[in-house]
Amino acid sequence: MAKYQSINPYTNETFANYSYSTNSQIDEAINLANALYHKWQHEQPQNRVEILHQIAKTLHEHESELAEIMTREMGKLIGEAKGEVELCVQICEYYANNGLKMLKPQKIDSALGNAYYLKQATGVIIACEPWNFPLYQVIRVFAPNFIVGNPVLLKHAHNVPGSAALTAKLIKQAGAPEGSLINLYPSYDQLDDIIADPRVQGVALTGSERGGASVAENAGKNLKKSTMELGGNDPFIVLADADKQVLQTTLHAARTYNAGQVCTSSKRIITVKSRYEEVLHELKSAFANLKTGDPLDPETTLAPLNSQDAKEKLTKQVERAIAAGAKVFYQYPEIDSDGAFFRPIILTDIDQNNPIFDEELFGPVAMVYQVEDEDEAIALANNSSYGLGSSIISSDIAHAQELAAQIETGMTVINGTWISSGELPFGGVKKSGYGRELSELGMMAFVNEHLVIDLKQ
Ligand code: NAP
Repeated sequence: MAKYQSINPYTNETFANYSYSTNSQIDEAINLANALYHKWQHEQPQNRVEILHQIAKTLHEHESELAEIMTREMGKLIGEAKGEVELCVQICEYYANNGLKMLKPQKIDSALGNAYYLKQATGVIIACEPWNFPLYQVIRVFAPNFIVGNPVLLKHAHNVPGSAALTAKLIKQAGAPEGSLINLYPSYDQLDDIIADPRVQGVALTGSERGGASVAENAGKNLKKSTMELGGNDPFIVLADADKQVLQTTLHAARTYNAGQVCTSSKRIITVKSRYEEVLHELKSAFANLKTGDPLDPETTLAPLNSQDAKEKLTKQVERAIAAGAKVFYQYPEIDSDGAFFRPIILTDIDQNNPIFDEELFGPVAMVYQVEDEDEAIALANNSSYGLGSSIISSDIAHAQELAAQIETGMTVINGTWISSGELPFGGVKKSGYGRELSELGMMAFVNEHLVIDLKQ
């Protein structure tokens, strides 16, 4: 695995290096978190509500600092980085305002007696997170588990160690007790040992199929609960009655937000024949109008990818696709920069034998498919190993809802692209993983539903 390092993908400058955590640092962290779990078992969760409000306030107050380190480490546009901080503020507020209600005991109707189940903490959780949303991925796990009473250990991606450290520092600064969120820099072997440790009760991973399969295998071997939020190849279905303005607005955001590095960005644009040319030209105009530059500059609209490795990987995928018959409808002009920029590209004529047909392309690549009718659109949407998100663009909402129910996916947005908010469940099916984060469903991921029943005599 790569070293924990901060490398600016715009300048290629390495601006910080981090050593792996030692085994004794890891042991101490688990001990601290586990002691906090036991302390919290005897406390009311109300005590944590005020602290979570304070965390929201602290993140908001440090928006610029957080946004800047994220942009410098993984290249996202500064405006998007600030938006990410504000989304995290909303998520913290959501659980501070609603978390306690969700933890109320649930009554069960039973002829056998008076039955209910408690929703109790289970213990220390390890969160294993990717670089594409350095703050949001952490807060998505931390905020609900903080109210539940599960302390969180963090293993962030190797290329965002500074963002991870700042997040942990701010959470502590806001008043969270020592052990609530501990940032570590473990190797993969050390991560395996953390998951196997009897003081750790679960693992939440967001990342690729490769990382997910390895961590899920280890969790399974040790009988630890896990949630897997993995990759996607989301269909974006354009129906004949799509509103012109909605289509234009959504297409313009679909493939370039976060430089296209979003698990739920619309990777496969599937359009009925009557709207095919319009879709291609809208996408072309969205891509052609992008402005490259320093992602710290608010005027920049096309960011570099997160690393040179990511650029190389995506370049090879696109080359293989073209060699196998995909046609290039448009590609952004050459970019005069040593940064990890990938020239946005629109590909058509991708048949089922093309190697990228069932691959996730993590960057500004739009694969556009033309279909005869809705049935073909749904069949193509479902012809994928993945099932994370999806979009339907249509003026007939009731009909779009009927079609949404036919897609094998975890999420469908009608007349929009991907979305995330504290109250909305996030997650997928098939190779996109299992379990949900956020919303009440996500809050229950590491809860012990503890049945209590007094039997009728
Ligand atoms: P990744 O390589 O799987 O990394 C994710 C995390 O897992 C990192 O902390 C990584 O550590 C760790 N990891 C990777 N391989 C591991 C292994 N064999 N053993 C232990 N830990 C391991 O994912 P990525 O490529 O950086 O992230 C992009 C992927 O995440 C895309 O596929 C994207 O779709 C997906 N994603 C999904 C969601 C969702 O909610 N479903 C959200 C965002 C992103 P190192 O960095 O140290 O290798």
